[in-house]
Amino acid sequence: MTSFKNRLLILIVSLMALAQGVTIVLALASIRNAVRTDSARQLSATRAMLDNTFAERARLLRAAADVLVADFAFREVVATRDRATMQSALNNHAARVGANLAVLYAPDGHVLAATTPALARQAGTDLRLPEPGAPAPAPFAVVGGRPYQIVFAPLRAPEIIAWVALGFELDQALAEKLAALGGTEVSFIYHEPGAFNGSTSTLEPAMAGELAALSLRRPSSSTPELMALNDQEFLTLSAPLRAQAGGLQLVVQRSQVAAMAQFREIRFALLLIGGAALLGAIIVAWLTGRSAVRPLGVLVNAANQIERGYYCDHIQLEGAREFQQLAGTFNSMQAGIREREARIVRQATHDTLTTLLNREGLRERLATLDHRGSCSVALVDVHRFRDINASVGHQAGDALLQALAARLSQFCGTQLPCARVGADQFVVVAALHDTELLHRVLVMADELRRGVELGDLRLSVDIRAGISEWREPRAAVEQLLRQADVALLQAKELSTVGVVYQPSHDAEHRRRVLLVAELRRALTSDGLSLHYQPLVNMTDRVAVGLEALLRWSHPTLGQISPAEFIPLAERASVLPDLSRWVLATAIAQLGQWQRAGVDLDVAVNLSAADFADGGLPARVLALLREHQVPATRLLLEVTESAIMREPQLAAQVMQQLRTAGVRFAIDDFGTGHSSLAQLHALPVDELKIDRAFVLNLDRTASNLAIVRTTIELGHSLGLKVVAEGVETPEVWASLLRLGCDLAQGYFISRPMPAASVPNWARGQYDQFARALTDAEEAGRLANIRGRSA
Ligand code: C2E
Ligand code: CA
Ligand code: CA
Repeated sequence: MTSFKNRLLILIVSLMALAQGVTIVLALASIRNAVRTDSARQLSATRAMLDNTFAERARLLRAAADVLVADFAFREVVATRDRATMQSALNNHAARVGANLAVLYAPDGHVLAATTPALARQAGTDLRLPEPGAPAPAPFAVVGGRPYQIVFAPLRAPEIIAWVALGFELDQALAEKLAALGGTEVSFIYHEPGAFNGSTSTLEPAMAGELAALSLRRPSSSTPELMALNDQEFLTLSAPLRAQAGGLQLVVQRSQVAAMAQFREIRFALLLIGGAALLGAIIVAWLTGRSAVRPLGVLVNAANQIERGYYCDHIQLEGAREFQQLAGTFNSMQAGIREREARIVRQATHDTLTTLLNREGLRERLATLDHRGSCSVALVDVHRFRDINASVGHQAGDALLQALAARLSQFCGTQLPCARVGADQFVVVAALHDTELLHRVLVMADELRRGVELGDLRLSVDIRAGISEWREPRAAVEQLLRQADVALLQAKELSTVGVVYQPSHDAEHRRRVLLVAELRRALTSDGLSLHYQPLVNMTDRVAVGLEALLRWSHPTLGQISPAEFIPLAERASVLPDLSRWVLATAIAQLGQWQRAGVDLDVAVNLSAADFADGGLPARVLALLREHQVPATRLLLEVTESAIMREPQLAAQVMQQLRTAGVRFAIDDFGTGHSSLAQLHALPVDELKIDRAFVLNLDRTASNLAIVRTTIELGHSLGLKVVAEGVETPEVWASLLRLGCDLAQGYFISRPMPAASVPNWARGQYDQFARALTDAEEAGRLANIRGRSA
């Protein structure tokens, strides 16, 4: 593909060459024409001059002949017929008038004397004397192979006694003289009958020969014609000369080469000028092309670079306005691309809401971090952020995240990164030891709990943080972040603000991961079972119900407490499956017992995640129907915090089930932050005081106060109050005194397998009554009887 520059060059040069060529060709043609016309005029002039010359010479000959025939002495000599005298007189006379030919004839035509013996021989045959009465004989004749101009004159005494012929030869000297006069070539072409052509010519001999060969074969023409002789062009004008014997032709010629000679310089100059102009045009075209194309080249270069992903500096162009506009467009295009690329890179590594780095950006920064000295990371999680979002709305939630981002960035300074790595999780990197960072986090957590101002809103925010120190030699970034994650899990588990990572956490973490995996398997492989723990009415000591408690016996890990695996299941989203299994098993069991005449309620524990499982009410009611169990037999235990996670949803689910007859108990009451007033709005039947307050009720005044208030408040709201964790007769006695309605605990019975329940139900009174009696006898229950009686 030829470049634009070359095409431009070729175009300009060809146009120029064409113009030049046409001009030169036209100029040369008109020169040639002019030369030809000029030659033709010259030939005609020469021709006319030759006619004059021949006429002049004819007059001269005639005068000389007249003088000779009038000469008395010569007449005398001829009359004597003395050959020798005649000869010398003729010669003298011819010499005197310069004639090349002189012949003396007898009236009968035979030659009496001639200038040369050869002429004397030939003149008798070649020439004929004029006849009286006939027209004048031709003025030319070829005699003895030579052309002559001839006149005849009679010698009278008084009758004709002889004839004299005088002639000038058309010789080389004449030809040259005539040629010199006319400025042309002059040739006489002649032949005697039966002989080859001869010529007398100013041409070179070879050309003269060629001309002679051509001439007599061609008809002569009165207009000049071009003729090539020996490859040279001659403008030729030929005319026959009237000859007595043989043929004679006069040819005048002008060599076109010679005629053009004077113009050769002009032609040379013309070509030179044309050539120079063309060269000039090439140079100018090249320069113009280059300067026109240079800006284009710069732009093409720039485009190539952009294509390869490099952005050049500002493109500066000199040249046409269009090019400058193009360069401007290029520059803004580059700037646009650069800016977009920067934005894409930024989006890939930054969080748009808080403008902090995102997880990817954090990884990159940490991987290339060049920081000497102590360095720790804290993975900070906003506790219950979902609940906050749900209660105050997403806009306030976003504002909270931005406020937190601003506060957390203060830990990092300018050198170290701060990132948002999840919806409600941040990572701060600080030039501190882990314990120092923990301290700073605790101080901040305190401030946040006291409240964060968001416009008119003031939110109390809890955080959890896992902290890990990046000791030298620095571990991989992934490992560092994983350690912080493990510590954060620990903090959540312990419900504490911050935990510094310990290598032992890894083992716990691994166990947690293992448990979740194993739990999934246990669900499908009979690894789970339910144990049941009785609840008794405190006044008449009669068992009224059983709480179903999940048991997991693992082949190698042994017994695993629900207190450990239930929270794990909830976080790993295994809980809904687990709950389905528990409900199905417990309700089926309830049906079996009913049919066997064991007349007890069953309580099942629910978690927050169960409320989110939309199909819960329908499924529970379906199970009750399937096993023909009245809904009033089932009691569901839910904690305050499970309800408060999404209060409206919880209320809805509870209401649906409550309408069908299912009862509800608030589990672990006293550990949450909810108020009784809030709970009163819900369809609740019982309060279960958390065992933490019950266990040593008789020995801790504050617990006693809490339990008393709770019982009083519960009763005032029309709720039954249950105490769990009753281990001793003393606690039993205290609860009885406080007016608690139901009790559950090791003192009454430990949780037992389903198979043991009918037995226990039948003999329950015996065992339990015996325990109470033993206690009484030991004096531990001094005034129980009195009170309860
Ligand atoms: P919870 O609902 O408060 O259950 C009562 C817990 O107290 C049971 O522990 C029970 O064995 C224990 N307990 C009963 N009497 C006494 C006593 O006198 N002294 C002491 N120290 N403890 C007593 P467990 O079976 O280990 O269950 C722990 C927690 O696991 C339960 O607390 C409950 O929150 C959860 N859980 C157990 N089974 C299930 C279940 O099927 N579903 C759900 N969602 N949670 C369950
Ligand atoms: Ca419970
Ligand atoms: Ca409980």
